[in-house]
Amino acid sequence: MVRAEGVRKSFGQVEVLKGIDLDVQSGEVVCVIGPSGSGKSTFLRCINHLEQVTAGRLWVNGHLVGYRERGGKLYELRDKEVSAQRRDIGMVFQRFNLFPHMTALENVMEAPVQVKGVRKADARRRGIELLERVGLAERVHNYPNQLSGGQQQRVAIARALAMEPSLMLFDEPTSALDPELVGEVLDVMRGLAQSGMTMVVVTHEMGFAREVGDKLVFMDDGVVVEVGDPRQVLGDPQHVRTRAFLSKVL
Ligand code: ATP
Ligand code: MG
Repeated sequence: MVRAEGVRKSFGQVEVLKGIDLDVQSGEVVCVIGPSGSGKSTFLRCINHLEQVTAGRLWVNGHLVGYRERGGKLYELRDKEVSAQRRDIGMVFQRFNLFPHMTALENVMEAPVQVKGVRKADARRRGIELLERVGLAERVHNYPNQLSGGQQQRVAIARALAMEPSLMLFDEPTSALDPELVGEVLDVMRGLAQSGMTMVVVTHEMGFAREVGDKLVFMDDGVVVEVGDPRQVLGDPQHVRTRAFLSKVL
């Protein structure tokens, strides 16, 4: 589903990703941990083509992200083709970024109607289903400022799902939440994982990574230092850098 081979990304002179190799199979939940500044967000943003990789290859669903390869050469895709690729990928950020002037339901309906041309009645029906699925049946007509952080983040998840993505990216989805609201968001993510969604989750929630993750990736300084079964990586890290990081966070 996702394959990264030697992915590099620089901002000016500074190389932030220094050759990332990673495979994510269809239906897999891959959690990514690592110190601040190690390049986790940048890597997620490359998968979604919010950032263009500087070198290496990145595939999603068998398509090279942002490029077409012909005769060994890479050609940049046009904006329209990039948008088509991105449509298949849902992303949820630390900050929920809901449209403040729209209700929960309107937030969820917006992209299917505007981007995909789905009929409003159909988008509405589907939007209500999705909000029910994230436990917000009673909240469909509330505006973001009438919702708690955890509720807003669940709307953000429903909004991403409304585009029927085949891959969901989460960038520290619970880091901005009060501790008592974290669980309700993780529960929704757990349900999504159980439904077979392919997910890449940058998180500090080691319990979630252990229970829900199929793989745990430890990144440091722009590289993948260690990948493995989450129980194994957390319980018996092989690399000294992983051990040093875990000793600080566990
Ligand atoms: P955190 O855990 O704090 O979210 P992270 O692992 O997600 O950290 P990134 O946000 O990917 O780290 O950042 C990696 C490095 O890249 C940092 O040093 C950051 O300052 C730098 N960086 C990220 N985006 C840009 C940008 N647009 N321009 C310049 N430098 C950037
Ligand atoms: Mg980050």
